[in-house]
Amino acid sequence: MDNIQPINNVMNGNGGFKQGLPKSILKYIPEPIQPLFENPLFSAGFGLLGVGSILAMGRKGFQSALIQSRRYFFVSVEVPSKDKSFHWVMEWLATKKNKNTRHVSVETTFHQHESGDIVSRINFVPSVGTHYVFYRGRVIKVERSREKNVVDMNSGNLWESITLTTLGTGRQVFQNLIEEAKEMALEKEEGKTLIYTSMGTDWRRFGHPRRKRPIASVILDKGKSELIIEDVKKFLSNSDWYNERGIPYRRGYLLYGPPGTGKSSFITALAGELQLSICILNLAGKSVSDTSLNQLLATAPQRSIILLEDIDSAIQTGNHDTSKASSNNISSISSGGLQYQGYYGSPSVGSGGSALTFSGLLNALDGVAASEGRILFMTTNHLEKLDKVLIRPGRVDLQIEIGLCSPYQMEQMFLKFFPTELDLAKQFVQKLEQYKFSPAQLQAYFMTFSNNSIDAINNLNQLINNK
Ligand code: ADP
Repeated sequence: MDNIQPINNVMNGNGGFKQGLPKSILKYIPEPIQPLFENPLFSAGFGLLGVGSILAMGRKGFQSALIQSRRYFFVSVEVPSKDKSFHWVMEWLATKKNKNTRHVSVETTFHQHESGDIVSRINFVPSVGTHYVFYRGRVIKVERSREKNVVDMNSGNLWESITLTTLGTGRQVFQNLIEEAKEMALEKEEGKTLIYTSMGTDWRRFGHPRRKRPIASVILDKGKSELIIEDVKKFLSNSDWYNERGIPYRRGYLLYGPPGTGKSSFITALAGELQLSICILNLAGKSVSDTSLNQLLATAPQRSIILLEDIDSAIQTGNHDTSKASSNNISSISSGGLQYQGYYGSPSVGSGGSALTFSGLLNALDGVAASEGRILFMTTNHLEKLDKVLIRPGRVDLQIEIGLCSPYQMEQMFLKFFPTELDLAKQFVQKLEQYKFSPAQLQAYFMTFSNNSIDAINNLNQLINNK
C-alpha cells in the first residue's frame, strides 16, 4: 500500500502542481473559473496543454522564420513546361554534368549530318526531384516537379515545372542564366528550320530543328522560284501598306501540280531562305475542326509560314452537311461551295468534338491575321477539284503551277547530280524529248547511278519503263 498516494500528490515528484496552480498565479485568473485551476488534475492537463502549445508555437514560429528567411535571403524562379524557356533550361541543365548527380532522366536527341546520316545523342537531364548545380560561383537548387494528372497541350507531356532557387536578393542571376540557356539553344537552331505541327488547338514543335535546305536545291521552272521569293519578301516588308489601307495583313499562295514536283520541298526551303519557321497542317487528318483550325491560323508562331498540304484531299464530295453551312458568315459563298460541304474527317478529338466543314475552312482563312502578318501556302495535286471560292483573291493571292520537268529543269536536275557534265546533260534532255517526268522520278533514277553519269545516260529505258 506504500505506493498508493493521495491523488493530489501524483504530479508532485515531477515538479507538477501539488495543489493546483499556486496562489501567485491564480490571482491572474478570473474569479469564476478559479476553482477549476485549484483542481490539480485540471491544472496538470492545462500544464501539458501549455507545453504542447508552446512547442507548436515554436514550430510555427520556426517555420514562418524559415519562410521569412527564404523570402529575404533566397531568390527563386519557376519555369513551367508550357514556357519556351523550359526547354532552354533543360538543355542547359543537361550540359551541367554533375558526376555526383545520381538521379537523372534520359533525353535522346537526333542529329542529321550533311550526308544525311542520322546520329542519336543521349543527354542526361535532372530527373524529377531536387538537384544542385553550380553557376557563376553560386549553388543553385533545381527542383523539377511533374503533375500526375495535368497534360501540357503544347507538348502532349505531363505538366512540369523547374524551380531554381539560390541565396541572394536579386533576380539578375536567373535572368543571366536563362539568357545563357537561350543563347545556347538558339545557337543550335541557327541555320536550321523549325517545324511545327498541330496538336488540338496548339502548335507543337515537330522533331528537332532541321538543317535548312538550300533553295537552289529545289529546281523549279525558270523564274518561278524568284517570283515567289520576291513576292513573299515584298509582303514581309510591306506591313505599313496594309495597315494604312486597313487591309488584313496576310497573303495566300497556292502551288499546284502533280506529285513529286517539289511543292512541299520548295516551301520548306523558302522558309529556311527567309528565316521563317514552318507550321504544317494536314487537313485530311482527323483532328482538325472548324474551331481548332480558326484558332490554329490565328495563333501560328511569329515569323512562320503556314502550310496546308494537299488541300484537295481534305475535301470529300457527296458528304453534305447543310446544317453546318448555316453557321458560316458567308452564306452566298457556302452555296457556291456546297459541293464540298461536309466533314473533312471524323469529329475532332482535341477541340470540342465538331469536324471541319468547307465553310469553317473559309472562315478560318478569312479570320483575323496575326499582327506580324500571315503567310499561308496551300498545295494541291488537283487544281480542278478546288472550289473557286477557296482560291479567290484574298484567300489565294498568287497561284503558281509547279509542273512536270521542262527541258530546263531536266538539264538542271542532271547537273545537280553530275555538276561537271554539261554535254551529257544536254544529251540527256535530247534523248527524253518526248517524255515528261517529275523531278522526284528523275531524282530516284539518278540516285541509282549516283557515281556514274555515263550509266545514267545509257540506262534511260529503266527510267522510261518505270514511268
Ligand atoms: P510535292 O510536294 O510536289 O509532292 P515533294 O516536295 O514532296 O513534292 O518532293 C518529293 C521528293 O522529290 C523530294 O525528295 C524532293 O527533294 C524531290 N523533288 C521534287 N521536286 C523537286 C524539284 N523541283 N527539285 C529538286 N528536287 C525535287
